[in-house]
Amino acid sequence: MSIADNLLKYKNELDGEQVQLIAVSKYQQPDAIMEAYNAGQRIFGENIVQELVDKQVELPGDIEWHLIGHLQSNKVKYIAPFISCIQSVDSLKLLIEINKQAKKHNRVIDCLLQIYIADEDTKFGLGFDEVIELLRSEEYAALKNIRITGLMGIASNNATEKQTNDEFTELKVLFDGIKLSFFRKDDTFKEVSMGMSGDYRLAIEAGSTMVRIGSSIFGKRVIKHFKA
Ligand SMILES: *Cc1c(COP(=O)(O)O)cnc(C)c1O
Repeated sequence: MSIADNLLKYKNELDGEQVQLIAVSKYQQPDAIMEAYNAGQRIFGENIVQELVDKQVELPGDIEWHLIGHLQSNKVKYIAPFISCIQSVDSLKLLIEINKQAKKHNRVIDCLLQIYIADEDTKFGLGFDEVIELLRSEEYAALKNIRITGLMGIASNNATEKQTNDEFTELKVLFDGIKLSFFRKDDTFKEVSMGMSGDYRLAIEAGSTMVRIGSSIFGKRVIKHFKA
């Protein structure tokens, strides 16, 4: 099936579920992204700052770019002018830097807090205690140029269906608790970003509002960096 066919399949499936599709275009060349764009997709996820910046310059201006990979504080300045959502915020220090750069551009940048739910050492993210501590801090309360719109998590690789389901459920339960404690009157705190090509069905059943799908839209990734 073509990229357009794959997208159409997801659009039909997700429309009824009220779940947003983030097309993960990391390592994809601009022509593949344009194929998805021409089929109607407007939200794309990237995980490397340099690649994202190069693509943003070359591709249509109405694309909403989401950063889904680990972000170093010293690189925030490159994406601050245009990024729609930073899904991978994993420290207060990073959030403070995003706020500072957003302010320079007179913007409020939407952010998701990335929560560590996997049973692995390799994934970035805040622990459950850390996220509460962050939200209670005075430093966070002072930030006016960021807006936290939800949580993001990545399940363990190669886990059983039960384990994946447990991890997604933990994230949803945490989201519900945080919503009640910190964002009860705030309608913009509503996203639970979880689910990828291999596990998006389980994620939706557990309450995902945003799935991040790459390989089953674009085909297997050839790890070859995009060059502008
Ligand atoms: C690559 C990536 C995805 C998409 O993974 P697929 O298995 O290709 O769908 C989703 N989320 C994050 C954070 C990623 O890095």
